[in-house]
Amino acid sequence: MAHDQHDNPDGLEVRVSQDEDYRTCSDCGADCEPEPFTTDAGIRIGFVCLEHGVHTVVDPFEGSR
Ligand SMILES: [Zn+2]
Repeated sequence: MAHDQHDNPDGLEVRVSQDEDYRTCSDCGADCEPEPFTTDAGIRIGFVCLEHGVHTVVDPFEGSR
């Protein structure tokens, strides 16, 4: 039986390389424009679907702190 290959061999999560992935609304598949905004914790980039609202928020500095 083949093992479920959800885990990366290195144990790292796929993030920035899947760039196109988090632009896409998981509900309707729309390609959304990144909208930077500021929070108390710093800058975040939100991807906003016109129909479903914010579906993804990413921290552009994640891993660089
Ligand atoms: Zn949507």
